[in-house]
Amino acid sequence: MARIVIIGAGIVGLSVARAALKNGHEAIVLEQGPVPNPQAASFDLHRMIRYQYGSAEGYTRMVTGAFDAWDRLWDDLGTDHFENTGSIAISLAPDDYAEKSLKTFQAIGLNHEVLDREGVERLCPHLTLPEGAWGVVAARGGPLFASRIVTDLAQWVVDHGAEIEANCKVVRVDPENGIAERADGTTVEGDLLVIAAGAWLPGLLPDRYGDNAVYRQGLCYVEPPARYKESWRNAPAIASLGDHTGYTLPDRRGAGLKIGYSAHRRLARPEQHGFDSDLEAESAAILGAFKPYFNEPDGYQPTRIQVGFYVLDPSRRFKVDQLGRGLVVTNCDGQMFKFGPLLGERIVGMFEGAESAADLSRWAAGH
Ligand SMILES: Cc1cc2nc3c(=O)[nH]c(=O)nc-3n(C[C@H](O)[C@H](O)[C@H](O)COP(=O)(O)OP(=O)(O)OC[C@H]3O[C@@H](n4cnc5c(N)ncnc54)[C@H](O)[C@@H]3O)c2cc1C
Repeated sequence: MARIVIIGAGIVGLSVARAALKNGHEAIVLEQGPVPNPQAASFDLHRMIRYQYGSAEGYTRMVTGAFDAWDRLWDDLGTDHFENTGSIAISLAPDDYAEKSLKTFQAIGLNHEVLDREGVERLCPHLTLPEGAWGVVAARGGPLFASRIVTDLAQWVVDHGAEIEANCKVVRVDPENGIAERADGTTVEGDLLVIAAGAWLPGLLPDRYGDNAVYRQGLCYVEPPARYKESWRNAPAIASLGDHTGYTLPDRRGAGLKIGYSAHRRLARPEQHGFDSDLEAESAAILGAFKPYFNEPDGYQPTRIQVGFYVLDPSRRFKVDQLGRGLVVTNCDGQMFKFGPLLGERIVGMFEGAESAADLSRWAAGH
């Protein structure tokens, strides 16, 4: 039995803790805030899982493994926090994200359906699309109810023997020797130290990660026009509209309809810029990108902005860096939630010798 110390109680840290406990190890989780922490990237009513990944074949393939890992988690929790609404990428121009996703599906033989413009509008009667638009639907995809997942997962790991130290900020780490130092100066040492600190990593390991780009992204919850409430609820999640600019998550299990616009992000750090938002200005920026395609565009009432932060460099590939006994997970982008349980299992598998750290790192990078 080894001791696995984890910094961060987001989906990555909690998933590592669960995988560690299932394999008979000791798990200690240090979290700077409450557990779960509403400021973590892993905390929102929903996050999307979808196969559409443009031309990134490695990540498209990984989604099947991710679904299997979620199924194992649902078995452990005795409940599922996922609604299979399917997901659609909508093409507005040649060679955009939807077309790239379609080519990837064809290349790897992934089950899908292509709909012409009328077909997409039948599935999504709240949309009116331009001439030549079309869509590619993957039958499996939709909302993972993120805040319920991290809440239940945190309880599961405690029930199965993990030690979770909430409100315990790690102020220094010695990854080579697997040591984390708490604010009161006490330390804890692991055979493996997993650093899953999300957007706070550059502040924790400034020498190595201080220059990493951290982005703030706002997502907009909206109340759609009454006549489209049901159609939004029943439609698939939109994984992309045009060149990966917009996405939507349907209002299932009371989570609300949420709209995201990838271009609505800016460089910012959580510890400096905080979590405030301007509902009017941000909702205008996010919904503005969609309004040309919405029926009754002025009938959408923004209700709140959910603010989150993530590390993202231009490679847009997850990074798993081994530093002696330390393992740093970073560059999670707006993408890691769906892979969290799978990555947790792989990290513990790597620690036990199932694969090398270099292979794990290549896999995480989608190669
Ligand atoms: C707006 C937005 C939309 C997204 N949409 C999707 C999506 O649709 N699908 C998808 O798959 N992914 C999505 N993502 C990405 C996904 O949510 C993240 O990649 C994932 O949640 C990262 O998990 P994590 O555990 O690495 O980090 P986090 O969830 O951020 O957890 C890190 C934890 O570490 C703690 N911590 C940090 N520093 C310290 C310290 N020094 N000491 C102790 N604790 C510390 C933090 O408090 C935090 O709780 C989105 C992200 C955002 C922000």
